[in-house]
Amino acid sequence: MYRIFYNTESNLGLDIIQGLNFILPQGDLSSLGLRQAEDALYDAPPWDWQIDSQKPADESLMGESRRQGSSPQPQAYTPPGCVDFPTWKFLQTQWAWNANGGGTGLPRGWSTAGPSYFHERFHKGCNRPTRLNDYYALDHPLKEWDIVYPPASGTVLYAGWAGGGWASLGRVVIIDLGGGYWAMAAHLRGINVHVGQHVWLSTVIGWAGRSGHYQDNYWPSVHLHQGLYKDAHLASWAGGIYGGHSAQPVKVHYFGNGGGDYWYIQPRQLMSW
Ligand SMILES: [Zn+2]
Repeated sequence: MYRIFYNTESNLGLDIIQGLNFILPQGDLSSLGLRQAEDALYDAPPWDWQIDSQKPADESLMGESRRQGSSPQPQAYTPPGCVDFPTWKFLQTQWAWNANGGGTGLPRGWSTAGPSYFHERFHKGCNRPTRLNDYYALDHPLKEWDIVYPPASGTVLYAGWAGGGWASLGRVVIIDLGGGYWAMAAHLRGINVHVGQHVWLSTVIGWAGRSGHYQDNYWPSVHLHQGLYKDAHLASWAGGIYGGHSAQPVKVHYFGNGGGDYWYIQPRQLMSW
């Protein structure tokens, strides 16, 4: 029930009231695309995230990675339909020196490859033409509002809520890394980039969260779901990736703790920022 007050000293109020039309709802609230309450309350982290003094500039990042040699490990088995991310393309771990720590069970600056590792739980599919192929996706435990970097430089294809059948991914950022390769970061707490923006290794694309699972519910733990894809397609109306091939992260560079490369990532492997 509504009670409407208007000024009786002019006819303007009455005219407005008489001009109103009340229409029964045509769909549920979510069809209006209203912002989630938590979005309205927290557009940015509740602290000064821009201070990341330990992340060097991009030029020195690439230079450092070139200086550090490391010998490749034997190649892991790649199932039919999946591909390996090419080793000539630069990949990095996606969190900062101050990730985790402080009661998370992980040392500061470290995360792991899993709870869900390759081909575990929802990480399925190498080349299904009509579905997300996430065989080689990884879940990295982080704490809420931990900085998320892109796995490589590129251009943002999508930044926002995933919809339709992809809604369980929550807030996602999808980046075109060039050469037919894409990356997706999912379950974000906040997004810090827009479509068309070029992102560098040191660009904060968003912050870790547990968004998704039908948008108003949440995943039980904060983690970054990250996937790599080759020749996939984008349902731009929903921010969903389908088709193409799931790509295995190979030779992932870390800058912390002396730096180096993770050639093939093992289940539950500890990984440095
Ligand atoms: Zn996942």
